[in-house]
Amino acid sequence: HERDPDQPEFHQAVEEVMSSLSSYLEAYPECHSQGLLERLVEPERVIQFRVPWVDDEGNVQVNRGFRVQMSSAIGPYKGGLRFHPSVNLGVLKFLAFEQVFKNALTTLPLGGAKGGADFDPKGKSDGEVMRFCQSFMTEMYRHIGADLDVPAGDIGVGPREIGYMYGMYRKLANEVAGVFTGKGLSYGGSCIRPEATGYGLVYFVEEMLKTQEKTLNGMKVAVSGAGNVAQHTIYKAMEMEATVVTLSDSDGTVYNPDGFTSEQWDFLVELKNERRGRVSELAEKFDLEYGKGAKPWDFPCDIALPCATQNELDEDAAKKLIDNGCICVAEGANMPSTAGAVEKFRQADILFAPGKAANAGGVAVSGLEMAQNSMRQHWSEGEVDSKLHEIMVSIHHACQRHGQVGKGSNNRSTDYVTGANVAAFIKVADAMLAQGVV
Ligand code: NDP
Repeated sequence: HERDPDQPEFHQAVEEVMSSLSSYLEAYPECHSQGLLERLVEPERVIQFRVPWVDDEGNVQVNRGFRVQMSSAIGPYKGGLRFHPSVNLGVLKFLAFEQVFKNALTTLPLGGAKGGADFDPKGKSDGEVMRFCQSFMTEMYRHIGADLDVPAGDIGVGPREIGYMYGMYRKLANEVAGVFTGKGLSYGGSCIRPEATGYGLVYFVEEMLKTQEKTLNGMKVAVSGAGNVAQHTIYKAMEMEATVVTLSDSDGTVYNPDGFTSEQWDFLVELKNERRGRVSELAEKFDLEYGKGAKPWDFPCDIALPCATQNELDEDAAKKLIDNGCICVAEGANMPSTAGAVEKFRQADILFAPGKAANAGGVAVSGLEMAQNSMRQHWSEGEVDSKLHEIMVSIHHACQRHGQVGKGSNNRSTDYVTGANVAAFIKVADAMLAQGVV
């Protein structure tokens, strides 16, 4: 707090991890003597740079670009790039810190990083987005590499942006390497990468429900967001016969108590990915209820899957969900629940999975994309999907193994927050202790 007083999201993420490690750490004094925790919260490297570009009117615009390389203890730095006006160093440090733990859980050798810029792609032409991405890469390219640091997408960075950045990397570095994941299928991308975070989230929820002898079939699911993670979460949940009742963007929420149809899903994907429109247009087109400024948590559901952004689900929203009978919350976004909301879920003894476990499917398939690129291979959709499924099941096992709690009133026997944090910490800490104080 004293060193970085203006980074509340980073403090929030660190406090959550440290509080779930406290009892575990008592048994391992060497963690203290080796300064392990102090090293874990200090990025190995932070790069900050100017991103000048020219808009369609000929005006020079200047944004701020970042890459936070948090830890390479278990493998090359890996983590997405976010383009959103709210991006600052504190937000990226929280995301990079979470990424270290998430990547450790995937079972793959991946370190943690995060980056991006305070650039808002909304309302920009393709030409403006391309010029921005190219300018961003003129600095970024020096700091990344297939065996060093491999970025991917995140909020505001999808296939279009990855394509522009990868193209510029190739030109500047004069090499064709698997330096980005989330690439298009025609230039080294992996099957299932766009779907992976959402599919993985639903696979994880399936495992959570199994512990209660339940399935997704017939469950009312509230999803927030309408971007990459939300779209594929909705698709997979619908495939598993759930009734998906909400989706949203930063303007409002669409509510369909009967559940979205595949026709509505197709419309959503075209609306968001091609026309870059607002979800209110989906409500208009299909005559659905739309709440301007409303949140998905305002509507009754059995399962809540926040898939938009950090701190979008606060204590009041958590109370509303619990009062409405919600039995399971799993985070598709990174840290969408505030600390107060998580405490409410714990008190109510409902199933709750943190993002670092539940949304790790995206980075896991990114790891598989890196493996395919190194081997000069391309695996089939079925092959990647079954590996993704296996990884999500193994993350669930890791949470169960390290997060056992006495069965509470709802028969819940796993604290997924503790389980995820302890399992990931053991892997990273082992690697750090073996490599000395560096
Ligand atoms: P997208 O940019 O594709 O979609 C983001 C969605 O969230 C949009 O619907 C957007 O609405 C909404 N949103 C963004 N910021 C806000 C805000 N401040 N308030 C309300 N709504 C907001 O991003 P992704 O789907 O890729 O990412 C969503 C979340 O998932 C993020 O937390 C990300 O870190 C996390 N994540 C993503 C992974 C991936 O593979 N892409 C992997 C793991 C986690 P609007 O258009 O109005 O801004």
